[in-house]
Amino acid sequence: MDSISEAGVVAAVDKELFIGGKWVPAANGKTFPVLDPSTGEVLCEVADASPADGVSALDAAVAAQADWANVAPRERGEILRRAYELLVERADELALLMTLEMGKPLAESKGEITYAAEFFRWFAEEAVRIGGGYAVAPNGTGRFLVTKQPVGPSLLITPWNFPMAMGTRKIGPAVAAGCTMVIKPAAQTPLSMLALAAILAEAGLPEGVLNVLTTSDSGGVMEPLIRDGRARKLSFTGSTGVGRKLLEQCADKVLRTSMELGGNAPFLVFEDADLDAAIEGAMTAKMRNIGEACTAANRFYVQRGIVDEFSRRLTERMEALPMGRGTEEGVVVGPLIDEPAVEKVSGLVADAVDRGARVLTGGSTVDGPGNFYQATVLTDVPKEARLASEEIFGPVAPITPFDSEDEAIAAANDTEFGLVSYVYTSDLKRALRVSERLEAGMIGLNQGLVSNPAAPFGGIKQSGLGREGGTVGIDEFLETKYIAVAL
Ligand code: NAP
Repeated sequence: MDSISEAGVVAAVDKELFIGGKWVPAANGKTFPVLDPSTGEVLCEVADASPADGVSALDAAVAAQADWANVAPRERGEILRRAYELLVERADELALLMTLEMGKPLAESKGEITYAAEFFRWFAEEAVRIGGGYAVAPNGTGRFLVTKQPVGPSLLITPWNFPMAMGTRKIGPAVAAGCTMVIKPAAQTPLSMLALAAILAEAGLPEGVLNVLTTSDSGGVMEPLIRDGRARKLSFTGSTGVGRKLLEQCADKVLRTSMELGGNAPFLVFEDADLDAAIEGAMTAKMRNIGEACTAANRFYVQRGIVDEFSRRLTERMEALPMGRGTEEGVVVGPLIDEPAVEKVSGLVADAVDRGARVLTGGSTVDGPGNFYQATVLTDVPKEARLASEEIFGPVAPITPFDSEDEAIAAANDTEFGLVSYVYTSDLKRALRVSERLEAGMIGLNQGLVSNPAAPFGGIKQSGLGREGGTVGIDEFLETKYIAVAL
């Protein structure tokens, strides 16, 4: 579209808090800046919610809950369907907005808008399939009725790395189930969520069902809402460290929780794998979102007989990737989200090199402006290297050779995380054997991308609790009620 401009898409966003269906400034009048990570420049200022604004947002969600729960499932689904259509229609503007605040290349932002919209289409369909049951009691004299009801007002917290999709993955099922919400996007990427709120209002979402808080004080604003007792659910996507803290807060009033936390995905390549497919999958699993994805391949384990060829071919592909501002044509490697992210990646690479890893390509920061780090391949990475146990969240592929299947599985499972694992092999028996033994909520079997709105996304171990998407995604926002019937 010729008519869209950077200044235009930023100007079009309402930058206030969205409470009770109205755009309002923060009660104390404060704002905070949103930066472009590719230049470090300020894009705009948005309202900086205080704890008092948080309470107003929760008041609005609580006030809207009873009426919203009584809106027909078909109507709730149709609101989501209209919002899906608006997202698709405005994908170009929304993609540009996302690239400006988050940095990922435009093509990836466009892909995320499509992915995000699909959650609304999926849950529009799920809204009318909330089931129940009728059964004869074992003693034959009574009957059991089982029904599902909305959990109630829900608190949603989303990260900066997928600013739109992490929102729709929670809002979609909450709307479908009949829950009202207070959502808090990450301070670094609030604009996509504000644009989404406007779209949902345009699609007919009643006042108070969705309330949006942007704030530079996430803990100060959200903790009182978690401890308030009126919200019945917290759905969080973010780091395991923050997730742990929020689980403790939720214990106070025994909130239902969904936790989509950090990952440390192993990527296993066996000698019998289709190497072309493995390289393609490795590029996707590593470089989607500039490596800033919970599903990013964090550790490559490659069988010794093919490790040199795999490393050479991956290096060729990585060093050919154009780096630059995400708005530029053809760019694949955009900036990382901020300076601390660049420092973290740099530190992890330096630590691996100190312990004996070799740099095949990259391995350096890039002079500013912007938070750039080169696409990097490391080989001979020892298992003691910090990046074997920590999320890299950047464009770095560490490769370690292995000899046996047992050794590969033991290395892959040697982590507190369990979100996703990738396996490349052409042997069907090995594929199933290894998939069953890997400790992860999701397996990419001969594919480097698992995310799909129609599939249950989520992790085990310290990668989280619950699932988003698929037929089970809506259950996270429903309570089961059993009615014992005397005949
Ligand atoms: P983060 O620091 O944990 O932040 C996530 C969200 O929590 C942000 O909105 C953040 O707001 C908020 N937050 C931080 N401290 C808080 C507190 N004390 N109370 C309430 N809210 C708080 O994570 P991130 O750096 O944004 O995101 C990257 C992490 O998310 C990675 O670990 C990644 O693996 C994980 N992730 C997981 C999935 C999944 O589905 N499993 C998907 C995407 C990302 P502010 O930033 O404004 O403080």
